Amino acid sequence: MRKILELRDVQKAYDDTVVVDGLSFSLQQGKIGCLLGPSGSGKTTILRTIAGFEKITSGTIRIGERIVSARDKTVSPDKRQIGMVFQDYALFPHMTVYENIVFGLHGKSRKERGETVQELLSIVRLEGTAAKYPHELSGGQQQRVALSRALAPRPSLLLMDEPFSNLDVTLRERLSVEVRDILKSYGMTALMVTHNQLEAFALADQVGVINDGMLDQWDTAPNLYHHPSNEKVAKFIGEGVLIRGERIGERKVETGLGLLEGEMSVACEGLGRVKVLIRPEDVIHDDSSPFKAKIIKKNFRGANILYTLQLPNGEPVLSLVESHHDHHLGQEIGIIHNVEDLVVYQ
Ligand code: ADP
Ligand code: MG
Repeated sequence: MRKILELRDVQKAYDDTVVVDGLSFSLQQGKIGCLLGPSGSGKTTILRTIAGFEKITSGTIRIGERIVSARDKTVSPDKRQIGMVFQDYALFPHMTVYENIVFGLHGKSRKERGETVQELLSIVRLEGTAAKYPHELSGGQQQRVALSRALAPRPSLLLMDEPFSNLDVTLRERLSVEVRDILKSYGMTALMVTHNQLEAFALADQVGVINDGMLDQWDTAPNLYHHPSNEKVAKFIGEGVLIRGERIGERKVETGLGLLEGEMSVACEGLGRVKVLIRPEDVIHDDSSPFKAKIIKKNFRGANILYTLQLPNGEPVLSLVESHHDHHLGQEIGIIHNVEDLVVYQ
């Protein structure tokens, strides 16, 4: 498979302030990548450097075969064959859906433009809206028009900056899945940035966790969740806590939850003091268990309740329990652990 995008050791500084550093990752043709990080972590800056709106301080950015950014080189955005979708849709309000979509299509006949619009509107399931104005459409529909506009010139790479964050929560996850299907049916290579994990997981083949302009891990969503490469990723992705442990054997760690045995899922050398990641699904409520923990917090979630439990040694863990097991704060409930792979840090 051909690489469509490759960043190598990219650094971006504004004056003396480095905001992106040592950034390396690549995307193969047809893959969807996502950079996931909190606000201010450098996501928009990275997209703007890939788009060519910002110069980079060092490293290289390659799109297709061509180096488009280096210390002394910045190919202009219009020569990079990229499409962009922004958070605020940025549709032209005084233009119809049709006019918005054909806006970037130069040198095409009227017939070709008409066909492109028909094809795109059918892919994004907005047939019959060509003559409408943006204000006549819902937020989700407007964002699909924005996507059509970005796809119309058939870019080799699509960049999306928090494309769903102006939509209401229930719509976000649904639209992420829809957009994924659209991009896949188009064979489009795309990079999205977001601060929302569920969006990243719903949309992307590969997710990069970004903190302070640096990439902690570039991996599939299941790997990020089950094999977080460092403590920062472990705390950022999903839910869970790190508890104290004593590694007493190759596959054995003594903890406040009892003796945990399993494969070490991240590199860990030597014995002695460690921290162990415990996810809510690792702690199972079982009334018949003699091992008790006290409920110190309770979070009702519909199908489940997320309990925060205090272990006998005082440390807290989380436990996800079906919500008909409705216990009260302060109650001691039986638990067993179900830890298979051990995520352990020194
Ligand atoms: P994100 O999109 O993850 O919220 P940004 O890329 O917008 O993060 O910002 C990353 C950092 O770079 C922030 O600290 C921000 O203040 C800084 N920054 C962004 N643009 C500029 C600029 N034009 N000049 C100086 N600093 C900037
Ligand atoms: Mg941003």
